[in-house]
Amino acid sequence: MSRLDYSTDSYRNGLIRVVCDIYTTQMSDCHRDMLTSLQVRAKVIVPIIQGETLWGLLNASESNKSRQWEPEEITLLKQLATQVAIAIGQANAYQQVKTELVERLQAEAHLRESEQRYSTLASAVPVGIFRTDPEGNCIYVNDFCCTISGLTLEEAKGTGWIKAIHPQDRDRVTNEWYETIKDNRLFRLEYRFEQPNGTVTWVLGQVAREKNAQGEITGYVGSLMDINDRKRAEEVIIHDALYDPLTNLPNRTFLVERIELALNKAKQEATYRYAVLFLDLDRFKVINDSLGHLVGDELLKSIAQKLKTYLKKRDLVARLGGDEFVILLENITGLEEVISITEHILQDCQTPLLINGYEMRISTSIGIVLGTTQYNQASHLLRDADIAMYRAKVQGRCSYKIFDANMHTQAVNRLILETDLRKALEREEFIVYYQPIIDIHQERLIGFEALVRWQHPTRGLVSPGEFVPIAEEMGLIVKIDSWIFKKACQQLASWKSKFADRFPLKVSINLSAQDLRKVSLIEDIDRILTETGLNGDSISLEITESMLIENINQTIVLLTKLKARNIKISIDDFGTGYSSLNYLHRLPTDSLKIDRSFVSGMKQGNRNYQIVSTIIALSNQLGLVVIAEGVETVEQLQWLKQLGCQFGQGYLFSKPLSAQAIETHFLQGNYFI
Ligand code: C2E
Ligand code: MG
Ligand code: MG
Repeated sequence: MSRLDYSTDSYRNGLIRVVCDIYTTQMSDCHRDMLTSLQVRAKVIVPIIQGETLWGLLNASESNKSRQWEPEEITLLKQLATQVAIAIGQANAYQQVKTELVERLQAEAHLRESEQRYSTLASAVPVGIFRTDPEGNCIYVNDFCCTISGLTLEEAKGTGWIKAIHPQDRDRVTNEWYETIKDNRLFRLEYRFEQPNGTVTWVLGQVAREKNAQGEITGYVGSLMDINDRKRAEEVIIHDALYDPLTNLPNRTFLVERIELALNKAKQEATYRYAVLFLDLDRFKVINDSLGHLVGDELLKSIAQKLKTYLKKRDLVARLGGDEFVILLENITGLEEVISITEHILQDCQTPLLINGYEMRISTSIGIVLGTTQYNQASHLLRDADIAMYRAKVQGRCSYKIFDANMHTQAVNRLILETDLRKALEREEFIVYYQPIIDIHQERLIGFEALVRWQHPTRGLVSPGEFVPIAEEMGLIVKIDSWIFKKACQQLASWKSKFADRFPLKVSINLSAQDLRKVSLIEDIDRILTETGLNGDSISLEITESMLIENINQTIVLLTKLKARNIKISIDDFGTGYSSLNYLHRLPTDSLKIDRSFVSGMKQGNRNYQIVSTIIALSNQLGLVVIAEGVETVEQLQWLKQLGCQFGQGYLFSKPLSAQAIETHFLQGNYFI
């Protein structure tokens, strides 16, 4: 077989050339010469057509003689050419397959290499990597995914991964995942995995689409980033912002949020009712001051634990600060339920607690507010519960009060009073009244008790009973008392120079607990005595018995200093406070003032009579002077005289009077008592 350029087009069209004798067939001389030299005399040329192409020519030749070609021979040659074409086609196909195979093997080797690299990378990175099919069914997860989820690759496949999602996040994640696929958008979500052993891992999951060359989605590839540290830090920040560090109870911010939810719910659901309980421990300050803050803290923690035990699932107990706690009761049936819970708390709180080896009984005062639809702000509920709590405290410790609108009016009035009180000092609206103190045996004036009055610009004269406790709470009393002390001393000094023949006379001045704590008390007293030229023996200080025992050792030091200046100490309102009989002998006091409630309630032989009699007997034994307060009748005076009481004070002799009235009625002219 040989390739011929001869009439290529006709061969391509399948033409068979038959030459019986080169000398009788028309052809070029040089062609004939070439055939002669090749010893070809006759020949048949059949094209070999493989597919569409002319692959070559099948050439059969007769060398020495001319020849007639038989049709069978031609047919045979044609068949041969066809066979050759098929063989060539097969050879070509084989070659092609071989090449393709090599190429494919190479490609597969490449793929394996790159997959190997990819999977090494995927298992080395501290990030979870997964792939899914276009429907979102998992087909691959890397090692990190397995570590986070606690699942094997096989377990995670398909929808197996869902069971490793934290139960609380499961719906959120699956909804988002399938909606992402449906809406053809990006997935980006923070959620938790929970392993069967309880280990919880927060992750940021992100997913991207995978597309083929035609732009069709072939699946999804996603990553899971461990965000545990950030979440923990966030949780700590959120916790700190919403919880009280000492008791671990929710704080005010948390409480306000919850009350606001309750408040809105009450507006939407007619049957939903809630209540706020404001609790304040009674006398907590005394514990804190006497046993120290550590014991105080322990006590608060125990109370917090105790309070939690009264709650139902939806209720909340929060610490507002100090010794103030608030309970939010939800889904209550009515006031009766709230009262029953409150009474239970009041009762249970009194069972002794053992704190750092001290057995403590602590009571609490509770203010109750029922949530009504009229409330729009949590702070208003808290305000009203606080007002009610305050009223409970005033009524007597270990009790509760339910808020009513009247209380609000009173609270507003009180606020106005506080504002006015602050201004009163600058505006010099206080005045001092004096009530004579009489030696009832000698019927002689021995001095006065200085009693403050407030000349209010619109309300007129306000009695100390109304504003002194408020001034004490506001911390204003120290300034007021210091002013009274100065005024009373100046007044006594002035009377001393004007009415020398009436002297010696003393002035008794009331002190509050806060005055005793004032560091500069002694210094201030010394200065005023020097300024007014009075001696200490012109002064008596009245201190209530509960004030004396609050900080007994410090008080003894202070009283001793006062005594060194010849200043007398009177225990005021004796018999009303905690029994200080145990302490009486330790305290450097000079006199007792029997509270007027005992004196006014005296009837021959009755209980008050007995008390007065006992106090007088006790005082005489201890060498203390007795002054009876509130002597109003001649009868009372007679009994007091009989019982051996030396001094008296009361309306029988005189009400407290202005300095001018005292001059007119007690110091000028011939008036003598
Ligand atoms: P207190 O020190 O026990 O004063 C005696 C109170 O009894 C005075 O009330 C006086 O007016 C009243 N009183 C005296 N005799 C009678 C009587 O026969 N019948 C009746 N019904 N009452 C009588 P006041 O002036 O209203 O003072 C009340 C309390 O306010 C005082 O009780 C004292 O604890 C406090 N207080 C008064 N002035 C001051 C002050 O300047 N500083 C301080 N810290 N407290 C003061
Ligand atoms: Mg007094
Ligand atoms: Mg008194």
